[in-house]
Amino acid sequence: MSETISPRLAGQMAAGLYVGGGLGTFLSAILPAAPDYNRPGVVAVALLAMIVGIVVSRVPWERWPPRASLIVVPVAFALIALGNHFAAAEPFRYGIYFVVAFAWIGFAHPPGTSFAFAPLFALAYLLPLVTTGTADPVSISSIVHVGPICLAVGESMAWVSTRLRSAQIQLQRAASEARFRSLVQNASDVILVLDQRGTIVYETPSVEKVLGYRPEQRIGGSAFENVHPDDIQTVRAGLGRVLAQPNAEHQLDFRVRHADGSWRGIHAIAKNLLDDEHVRGVLVNCRDITDRQQLEEQLRHQAFHDALTGLANRALFADRVDHALHRAGRHPSSVAVLFLDLDDFKTVNDSLGHEAGDELLRAVADRLRRALREGDTAARLGGDEFAILLEEVDSEGAAEVADRVLDALRGRFRVGRRELGISASIGVAVGRTRASASDLLRNADVAMYRAKAAGKGRVVMFRSGMERAAANRLQLRADLERALQHGELVVHYQPIVDLAGGDIRGVEALVRWNHPRRGLLGPVEFIGLAEETGQILRLGRFVLEEACRQVCAWNRARLARLPLMVSVNLSVKQLEHPGIGEEVAAVLRATGLPPELLTLEITETVLMQDTELTRRALANLKTLGVRIVIDDFGTGYSSLNYLRRFPIDGLKIDRSFVAALETGREEAALVASILSLSRTLRLHTVAEGIERPEQLSRLRALGGELGQGYHFAGPMTSADVAQLVEEQSAFPAAASA
Ligand code: C2E
Ligand code: CA
Ligand code: CA
Repeated sequence: MSETISPRLAGQMAAGLYVGGGLGTFLSAILPAAPDYNRPGVVAVALLAMIVGIVVSRVPWERWPPRASLIVVPVAFALIALGNHFAAAEPFRYGIYFVVAFAWIGFAHPPGTSFAFAPLFALAYLLPLVTTGTADPVSISSIVHVGPICLAVGESMAWVSTRLRSAQIQLQRAASEARFRSLVQNASDVILVLDQRGTIVYETPSVEKVLGYRPEQRIGGSAFENVHPDDIQTVRAGLGRVLAQPNAEHQLDFRVRHADGSWRGIHAIAKNLLDDEHVRGVLVNCRDITDRQQLEEQLRHQAFHDALTGLANRALFADRVDHALHRAGRHPSSVAVLFLDLDDFKTVNDSLGHEAGDELLRAVADRLRRALREGDTAARLGGDEFAILLEEVDSEGAAEVADRVLDALRGRFRVGRRELGISASIGVAVGRTRASASDLLRNADVAMYRAKAAGKGRVVMFRSGMERAAANRLQLRADLERALQHGELVVHYQPIVDLAGGDIRGVEALVRWNHPRRGLLGPVEFIGLAEETGQILRLGRFVLEEACRQVCAWNRARLARLPLMVSVNLSVKQLEHPGIGEEVAAVLRATGLPPELLTLEITETVLMQDTELTRRALANLKTLGVRIVIDDFGTGYSSLNYLRRFPIDGLKIDRSFVAALETGREEAALVASILSLSRTLRLHTVAEGIERPEQLSRLRALGGELGQGYHFAGPMTSADVAQLVEEQSAFPAAASA
């Protein structure tokens, strides 16, 4: 703020004086006057003064320094002198004009300015006396009075004006200081002044609100005292950077201990004001950003974690795997990824509802967490898929962890008021050179699918070549859809013969896929896939229908002496399907096959699940009059209890027992006891996989009833079966050799 009035105000005042002076002069011209009074001249000067006044009022004085307005002074003096020349009055009469002019000079400009105009004043005062011839000694000497009066008025005006101005300035300064102080003291930020060593020289009272310390409690102490130990290094370095040069500024986030012992996040802006005489220190503005950081943390957590289980999500997991591979450097094999998928989770979800499903997923996540070491990462990738990252392991170690995880999931889960058991399939992939996180995850996924296909509830390690198989599977799935629609599936039949006489008593229907590009595919190549995708339901129905129709046709044609029986394999998925009883009944009706000629083969795993659902489905089928046999008997966790609990009609003794008949005594004994048990329980038996005559004779000796195997015939087309049966009817002895 300047010490004089503003140039603009000075200009306005000058303009006012010009106009006022001009107006006064104009009025004085009306009054009676001496004979040498030049009235037109005076009026002209008066008008000129008013015009100048208007011009002066329009000049943008604020654009120039205050001194610039002094230009109006010589102009004014010239007009006064000219007016006097025309009026030819005695000097005192217009001395008053000069007094006013000096009053303006003094008011609008610093003290001493009026002296500079003294010579010009003398000239303007005396010149008209000469031109009008009134320069008598009395008139001339009047300057001795008028001159000092003008200077005295000018200087006293200057004095008064300066006093007024400084009083005003002080008032304003006091007001703004008060405002600033209350701003600083009530701010939610803490403002500190530090000296070069980091000692607190000043601190705003807001420290109490922000950090809980009493105002001035910390003054004189070190600013680093309450900084988090992990952050001290960075804070010191930051102060160093600020001190490096005047006016340097630096921003920093760090943690500070609150008086209550908690840690608060602080964002600080420090500025070097050592050279500023009012500060003489480093000014630090600190803001509490704890809430903001917590919110950020929450948002980050949400972005990288699965909301349901709190485990890492796919994005975070991929990132962790990336970092792990990076850390492992040239030893990528120390990083392993486990891909875990719950078996039959969909059934839980569908039968118990989504809430139960969610609860189960949460419980699974808990068990995973507990089964892992500190540094391992568990993630939920979506649905019932989980992944685990292991570091510093070898493949055996990874396999062990995978087994441990399976064990952890084995115990029953409480979901709502129910208890249920689940299993999971795990694929394990170990890092390789140049493997990326996504490679690793995909490989583990591929291995997991293998685990599913191999019968679930198990661990499979990834081996190269599997990925190709996985790609094939995708293709295969689409192909299978087409196969179902275009009749590419065919049923082959393997004869089941009477071991004693060698007669063909029936056939087992075995599905084949006449693939347009890959030729004839065996069921192992696509049954697992069909079960996974649900296509098994349509596939199974097709086989059932086709087999029943075929056998019925043979029997109508009296192909064999006795009506032929037919065995059809039933997948677990089909049995779990609620409509299975209806479906079998419908097929029997449609084809006209007597129910007692149809045998349904189910595997032991069906019985192991031991659910109300399977029990009811089997009972339902039984009421239709069909037979039910257990396939591959002896390969599962055979519990003979099943045989009592379920309505079973027969057993198919797995070919591994038949193969061992010649060599192992124990297995031979086992086959013997299975056969005798079957007789006790009145179960039919079929021995599978009879390949050699020795096996046949041992089975005969043990009293085996029926059998099938390459020794008699492999699976063959219906035409080949018809031909074989016809030949046999012609030469009955041939088969029994
Ligand atoms: P499975 O029910 O145990 O069928 C017997 C399998 O043993 C058949 O294999 C058959 O070709 C084979 N085999 C027969 N005699 C011998 C022998 O002397 N030695 C040896 N080593 N093997 C013999 P295939 O046709 O490849 O079928 C494999 C499995 O696929 C079947 O095992 C069955 O579980 C499943 N399958 C076949 N057709 C169907 C179907 O229509 N529906 C369902 N759900 N599964 C089917
Ligand atoms: Ca079978
Ligand atoms: Ca079998």
